[in-house]
Amino acid sequence: MKADRIAEQIKNISDTLPCGVTLIAVSKYHPAEAIMQAYEAGQREFGESKAQDLVKKHDVLPTDIKWHFIGHLQSNKIKYIAPFVYLIHSIDSYKLLQEVNRHGEKHCRKIGCLLQIHIAQEETKFGFTPEECMAMLAAGEWRTLENVEIRGIMCMASNTEDENQIAKEFAEVQKLFNDVKANFFAGNDNFNILSAGMSDDYPIAINYGSTHIRVGSKIFND
Ligand SMILES: *Cc1c(COP(=O)(O)O)cnc(C)c1O
Repeated sequence: MKADRIAEQIKNISDTLPCGVTLIAVSKYHPAEAIMQAYEAGQREFGESKAQDLVKKHDVLPTDIKWHFIGHLQSNKIKYIAPFVYLIHSIDSYKLLQEVNRHGEKHCRKIGCLLQIHIAQEETKFGFTPEECMAMLAAGEWRTLENVEIRGIMCMASNTEDENQIAKEFAEVQKLFNDVKANFFAGNDNFNILSAGMSDDYPIAINYGSTHIRVGSKIFND
């Protein structure tokens, strides 16, 4: 029953996505068996928000899964995920980017990273403000980091029913994405990820250029 439901939800969501939009199944709080059910339905990209959980699941699940780290990342946890993580969505300081670079070097990898932007009204959320993000990039020191690759931007909209507010926030991040691309990554085809939208707001995010939606409860709890 449950397996059928997970497969059905993945299909329902995937069928409505425009081409060029990737579904990341956010499997935090769900056991390896639930992930396996999604895998058997064809899902290959999964998101986790705790380093140790990510490692445990990585160790027992198929090796062709792309693992996205989407939670707040503490420096002392990077070492657990550095050997295999596909993309870190939650770079919220230059210092963290430097630390990830250091671990990438140890493992002879270039680790894909997104800059997390604080756009929501809630104070509790992490990330650069748009101004901080532009200033960090303008400073240019990131260009010396050879073992990380900045692939784009991630954001979480306010947790509100007000769709106008959510749309306004996604529009602001889309504009930032375009500005950052034009100013710092023009001609770099690898800067092409805008990670925006969750179970309740991903259709809005897609209207504002999201390329990667992070959906958890709509797949695993519905
Ligand atoms: C949990 C989480 C999601 C998924 O949220 P749902 O509402 O369950 O789809 C997406 N992004 C981040 C950063 C999360 O922590």
